[in-house]
Amino acid sequence: MRLVVDLNRCQGYAQCAFLAPDVFALYGEESLVYDPHPGEEPRERLARAVAACPVQAITAEGLDDPGDPSAGAGRGTSRGG
Ligand code: SF4
Repeated sequence: MRLVVDLNRCQGYAQCAFLAPDVFALYGEESLVYDPHPGEEPRERLARAVAACPVQAITAEGLDDPGDPSAGAGRGTSRGG
């Protein structure tokens, strides 16, 4: 997964830092720093952070891709019998 934040668009609302503090952090009033390759952060939280940004400054590549083979596979769902 790859994260990109359009810092020209970001207004420092800190919604993302509130929802995914391991990935986004604000320094000062408007300086956002973030991890562009958030390996261990749960996708659900990242998805919420992306959705919560009031100015849609966050782009997450691979967030909606459940079939991403590099995202840690191996969880089978077949059970029973
Ligand atoms: S939620 Fe959006 S505007 Fe607010 S700090 Fe994060 S990227 Fe910037």
